[in-house]
Amino acid sequence: MKHALLQSVLSIQSNLTDLFGPHLSPKALIIPPTTPEFPAQLQQRWTDYNAPSYILGAIKPATEQDVQNIVKIAAANNVPFFTTGGGHGVSDYHSFDGLSIDLSAFNSVVFSEDGSEITIGGSTKIHQLVKSLYEGAKELPLGSCACVGVIGATLSGGIGGLQGHRGLLMDSLESVRVVTAAGNLLIASRSDNEDLFWALRGAGSNFGIVTSATYRLPELSNGGMYMNADFLFPASVNSSFWQALESFDHGMPSRLAITAGVLYNRVAAEVSLIPTCTLMLLDAYNFPHIAYVCRQRHLLRPTGRRRAISSALETPWARQVQHQHGSC
Ligand SMILES: Cc1cc2nc3c(=O)[nH]c(=O)nc-3n(C[C@H](O)[C@H](O)[C@H](O)COP(=O)(O)OP(=O)(O)OC[C@H]3O[C@@H](n4cnc5c(N)ncnc54)[C@H](O)[C@@H]3O)c2cc1C
Repeated sequence: MKHALLQSVLSIQSNLTDLFGPHLSPKALIIPPTTPEFPAQLQQRWTDYNAPSYILGAIKPATEQDVQNIVKIAAANNVPFFTTGGGHGVSDYHSFDGLSIDLSAFNSVVFSEDGSEITIGGSTKIHQLVKSLYEGAKELPLGSCACVGVIGATLSGGIGGLQGHRGLLMDSLESVRVVTAAGNLLIASRSDNEDLFWALRGAGSNFGIVTSATYRLPELSNGGMYMNADFLFPASVNSSFWQALESFDHGMPSRLAITAGVLYNRVAAEVSLIPTCTLMLLDAYNFPHIAYVCRQRHLLRPTGRRRAISSALETPWARQVQHQHGSC
């Protein structure tokens, strides 16, 4: 059984170009795993922890038709495949071994003529949007890490500093173009393939490959100025940290958004808890105010220990995201 599997892997590896090449557009790139450029030519992952591996190599499609053909051929030949957008997925993918469909070429950004909507490609990253949105006096409830794939984030909800005010990123989604497991290209929206549209918003990566997505754009709030503070706690504060977050459950102002993260440093074998406290105010924004709100809710001193603030910024939204560009 193992032998047969190995034979099949070797045969697909050596015939990757023969198998897919005739059905792809001239700009599509087939990268067998044996070529020296193989890992460098792929969209790099934010972490290699629990990363998928690509024993069968990778293909970078250049057109939607390429994506459809790759899916159809892969399905017909029992080739397992995995789609990569921005490379910031942190789920447990370590059991995957197969072919990478790398959407790097799908990184377009197009505003509608009246500026009320934006359509982006399947791997477009947050930093590609922010400046144009800001300059066009529009906003989207994006996360603050500039290198995350916008569609990747949307497909799993999409949290960020504007979430209380504008909802999750998936709430701004108007429609998607998606290639299904059968290789069909569909449009999904509130009026077309509604069930699929519903499923895509939250569990999206299970339902197809999104080649592009269109979002509704609200006007920029408060001239784009908002306040952001990041707090870093040691894991030892443990349950009091979660209790402090729970205390925000009722009556939190919509312009305050708190997102929490747990980071594990593999080298130091340390865990940190990070709530990011974002306060959007209409007429005043300053550090004492945000600190006041967080302290009121016992967030700054959950166990009476000194808290650590890694950064606090009062800044145009666009600059805040750019500020984080270096860390991702
Ligand atoms: C440093 C860091 C900061 C983060 N900050 C935030 C944040 O502020 N807000 C937030 O909501 N999330 C955040 N995340 C989580 C991130 O949104 C998710 O991990 C998301 O899935 C990443 O998408 P990606 O395209 O970048 O990653 P990938 O690893 O490329 O993809 C992740 C998953 O989505 C699928 N996928 C990606 N693109 C497509 C597509 N076009 N069509 C179909 N499936 C696709 C992949 O197959 C995979 O299953 C952060 C993650 C990291 C590492």
